[in-house]
Amino acid sequence: MSAPFRYCPQCTEALVEREHGGMLRQACPDAGCGYVYWDNPTPVVAAVVEHEGEIILARNALWPQRFFALVTGFLERNEDPAEAVLREVEEELGLQGSDPGFIGHYRFERMNQLIIAYHVVAHGRIELGEELSEYIRVPFDKVRYWPAATGLALRDWLRSRGYDPQQIELPRRG
Ligand SMILES: [Zn+2]
Repeated sequence: MSAPFRYCPQCTEALVEREHGGMLRQACPDAGCGYVYWDNPTPVVAAVVEHEGEIILARNALWPQRFFALVTGFLERNEDPAEAVLREVEEELGLQGSDPGFIGHYRFERMNQLIIAYHVVAHGRIELGEELSEYIRVPFDKVRYWPAATGLALRDWLRSRGYDPQQIELPRRG
C-alpha cells in the first residue's frame, strides 16, 4: 500500500519504497529523518443499535445508494471504545445508550480500518445527526446482513440471539 502523499511529512524529501519489518513501505531516504509510512489500520467503533425491540439501521448522507448500515465513528484521543460507541449513538441518532456489549472486532480491508463492534440498547426519540440522512427500523428476524466488517458484526450478534439472518444481495459494481 503506498502512502497518500509523495513527500516526507517530516523533512519533505521524496519518499522511496523500502523494506521495513518484512514489508515494502514508503519511507524517507534521509537516514537522519527515518520517517516510515507504516499504514496502520484506524480503529472505528460500530453500534448494532436496539431501540424499542427493533434494530435501527441508518444511511450516511454521503452514500449514493439507498444502503442502510450500522452507526460508526472514530475514537477521540484517549477515549474508551465503549464510551465512543455510546457517544456516536447519541450524536448520530439522538439516543441514550447504556452498557454496550462487545460483539467482536472485524477487519475492514478496503478502508484499512479495524471495526470494534458493540450491541447498544438505546432509549429516547430518534433525531438524526448531520452525518445521517435517514434510518429504518427492522425486526430482529427480518434483518439481513452485508458481507463486510460491520455487516458481519450484525450477523454475529443476531446469531448470538438465536436468529438466522440472511445475506443481502449486493448490486454488482461496474
Ligand atoms: Zn524525512
